[in-house]
Amino acid sequence: MGHSRLHETFDAIAATRETGQLPLVVFDLDSTLFSTAPRNLRILEEFVARHGSGEPRLREVLESVSLEDMGWNIHDTLMERGLTDPALLKALRGFWFARFFTDEYVTSDTPTPGAVEFVNHCHDAGALIYYLSGRHVGGMEQGTVRSLTDHGFPFWRGRCVIHLKPTFEMADRAFKDDALADIRSYRSPVVATFENEPGNANLFLGAFPDALHYFLETVHSPEAEVPHVELIRGVDFCLPARA
Ligand SMILES: [Mg+2]
Repeated sequence: MGHSRLHETFDAIAATRETGQLPLVVFDLDSTLFSTAPRNLRILEEFVARHGSGEPRLREVLESVSLEDMGWNIHDTLMERGLTDPALLKALRGFWFARFFTDEYVTSDTPTPGAVEFVNHCHDAGALIYYLSGRHVGGMEQGTVRSLTDHGFPFWRGRCVIHLKPTFEMADRAFKDDALADIRSYRSPVVATFENEPGNANLFLGAFPDALHYFLETVHSPEAEVPHVELIRGVDFCLPARA
């Protein structure tokens, strides 16, 4: 996270282990362990390939954007660049919606810098890894597992849990409430959580006040809550050299 507070997770795992308990570390996926920018850019490229002949400015926009320009969604990216035709944006929205939440496209995501090493380190240190994501079962679960395992995140080695939304339609907040109940059912201390959505990070802070709560300032939804001041901020999982 660009500063030494990431190490505190390892200290907390060790301290919990010394008490004979199993430490839990909770990781969100989208815009926390993974960047969704390659998924969004791929969808935009395919949209332009299909519709670019009807709107030449689409190709200009595509040439002007990079992974770093990919935000919460690609409609905003186009609108910021002056493409405001409602019919075009409607078509893009449908095109994006049909692809973004799928096994095939989710595998385009790339790990956040340092994330693979960091999660492995937590697992090796004895933590239970709890992957928690609003990606849904029945469309994204296979791509999610493939993506985690292809990139080398701990998965098939025990002490790893993955909890996805049971259906696409389930409300995010109801899902997070269910997830909190599931996490509590282990009766083990949560030592750290990692989230990019301020609302979820705030929720974890309230639910597990003794844990470390990291807030990744990557991208988040447009109508997001204000992040609590106690959240530990950072942009990635790169560990600075320990003094
Ligand atoms: Mg997220």
